[in-house]
Amino acid sequence: MTKQSDTTHSDTTQSDTTQRLAHLSVLISGASVAGPALALQLSKYGANVTVVEKAPALRKGGFAVDFRGRAHRTALQRLGIRDEVHARQTHMGRQSVVDADGSARVDLPAAFMSGDVEIFRGDLSEILYERTKDRVEYVFGDSIATLTEDADGVDVTFGRGAPRRFDLVVGADGLHSHTRRLTFGDKGHHLRHLGYYVAGFDLPNHLGLDRTARLYSEPGRMAALSNYDGDPERAGAMLVFASERLDYDRHDIAAQKKLLAERFADMGWETPTILAALEATDGLYFDAIAQVHVERLSKGRVVLLGDAGYGATMGGMGTGSAIVCAYVLAGELALVGGDHRVAFAAYEAEVGDFAKGCQKTAENAGPFLAPPTEKHVRRRDRAYRMLSSRLLAGVFKRLTEKAASAITLKDYS
Ligand SMILES: Cc1cc2nc3c(=O)[nH]c(=O)nc-3n(C[C@H](O)[C@H](O)[C@H](O)COP(=O)(O)OP(=O)(O)OC[C@H]3O[C@@H](n4cnc5c(N)ncnc54)[C@H](O)[C@@H]3O)c2cc1C
Repeated sequence: MTKQSDTTHSDTTQSDTTQRLAHLSVLISGASVAGPALALQLSKYGANVTVVEKAPALRKGGFAVDFRGRAHRTALQRLGIRDEVHARQTHMGRQSVVDADGSARVDLPAAFMSGDVEIFRGDLSEILYERTKDRVEYVFGDSIATLTEDADGVDVTFGRGAPRRFDLVVGADGLHSHTRRLTFGDKGHHLRHLGYYVAGFDLPNHLGLDRTARLYSEPGRMAALSNYDGDPERAGAMLVFASERLDYDRHDIAAQKKLLAERFADMGWETPTILAALEATDGLYFDAIAQVHVERLSKGRVVLLGDAGYGATMGGMGTGSAIVCAYVLAGELALVGGDHRVAFAAYEAEVGDFAKGCQKTAENAGPFLAPPTEKHVRRRDRAYRMLSSRLLAGVFKRLTEKAASAITLKDYS
């Protein structure tokens, strides 16, 4: 697919449908992946879109995220960003599970972790932002405070900005969605802890890795080092550990570092070097491996999109789902000229099973990365070895793509 063909499709979409939603004002909370992807599609239909993001600027950072299978490919193409994503992909190669002395136990094919095309989350977010910033209003450093709905719209107050009124509100504000809490109540009820935590941060590439990764597991813990972008100086560390639900302040980075240092204190392989770098980093990502399960994705004029509605966590292809579902939500709204009652019901019907299927694939991400016992570690490695054999490579590819492809996208143009 060439750059020109991407552009041609979006132009066709645009010329056919530009004014369908011209009367509609939409507020989207969250400017990571789901929010700007929806903004891109809605703005093609002429909608008046505002995106409010809590962070003071577009958030960089995050590990690499991947796309795999037919539905992801189609959504990228119809959003018109497929070529740009390919141009900025990581080109990750094979990855190895290693012993404590660094020797490889198993080599994994690139597609195992990296899908058909892999890109840094921050790069993807930037592509979407650049595509929309001239036709969508972005408000950084603010957040929705209250939502009050009546028959004709939603009155919104903000933490900082003046109150405003919108036709619709979309919560695309991630796993810990504030919009979800405001609309559906207590977030603890919707967030299902899967028994693991994950941390990630950059550090010097002291192993000289080149577009490859090393994963080391001890019972209940995993440490990994990777180099994604061929920058010889920079590597990424990932730490995963099993734990019951922890009570910690999500904004207290020093406490999170201390917690990680304690959990990984006596771990072998390169862990002491990783912990030294952890102390120095100012870009720590730390979160529970958790999933969002809500009974409904919408209530009145408010609807949830991406991780806010069906966060799947690691291995659940949350970024691919966010792109697919943004395409569907915008399309369903355009089909019925913005009638949210019809469009939200159709959106839920279209994406519900698909999103649940992706969540299901992620349920074992923690135990797979950090198996609970030495016996489980060995069993996991045997499975890895079998799946990475040439004979089973095709079966494996089909397995990983099954959930990601379990939706047939309508052509809304
Ligand atoms: C900084 C960062 C790093 C990440 N790293 C990884 C990673 O390494 N690997 C991985 O698989 N996934 C990662 N993710 C999650 C990944 O982006 C999502 O799983 C997926 O892309 C779906 O995206 P989303 O837009 O639905 O949610 P998210 O990507 O979680 O984005 C939610 C956005 O909403 C914003 N937000 C939160 N609360 C509010 C509020 N009250 N008001 C306004 N805005 C708010 C957040 O700042 C964020 O920009 C990361 C997300 C972020 C924000």
